[in-house]
Amino acid sequence: MRLAVYTGASRGSDPQLADAARDFATALARRGVGIVYGGGHVGLMGAVADAALSCGGEVVGVMPQALVDREAAHPGLTELRVVRTLHERKAGMAALADGFVALPGGLGTLEEIFEAWTWLQLGLHAKPVGFLNVDGYWTPLLEAVASMSAAGLVHPEHRDAPVVARDAAELLDGFAAWRAPHRRRPDPPAPAGEGPARPAPRM
Ligand code: AMP
Repeated sequence: MRLAVYTGASRGSDPQLADAARDFATALARRGVGIVYGGGHVGLMGAVADAALSCGGEVVGVMPQALVDREAAHPGLTELRVVRTLHERKAGMAALADGFVALPGGLGTLEEIFEAWTWLQLGLHAKPVGFLNVDGYWTPLLEAVASMSAAGLVHPEHRDAPVVARDAAELLDGFAAWRAPHRRRPDPPAPAGEGPARPAPRM
């Protein structure tokens, strides 16, 4: 069992974020759950890797060559896979992972977890996606998705697909009980000037 962990390349202003990242990584390592992540030595990413490695956990980094210097590749990983592009990084991480988790992070973290979430929506994988909601960090984002769902643009099944947890134990329990949502057919195209060809799927 190995999880893709996405989190900030910065540490953030609240020391609680790094504490939570370390606690999460320690708990995973103690349960024998490996980590695949972006490979950096800095920020919350680095805190995750350091904590898991210091407990004997497996930590695999996947990093594009261009970022090896800029984000400082972690020198002590179980394995560092150097790839060519960010797309290869995400594909490599996804292939190695049995599930995806976002810890607090910035735009890169968002981009990565949303790809995992949207690929789940499309049925391109059937692996759990989760958010570690440290001190409500992700609540405004999840509320934005709920509001999009209320507007009829995100199916409730996909809105509710991620596991939202406060700590590693809750997240792993949620992943163990998780079932992939059913794939939904896209709405049929409506011929010009007419209503839908078939009743629209219920939202
Ligand atoms: P951030 O959450 O912005 O601190 O970024 C966290 C990590 O995401 C960093 O290692 C970034 O290199 C990585 N990242 C940012 N954008 C992308 C992307 N489009 N694809 C893959 N990784 C990314």
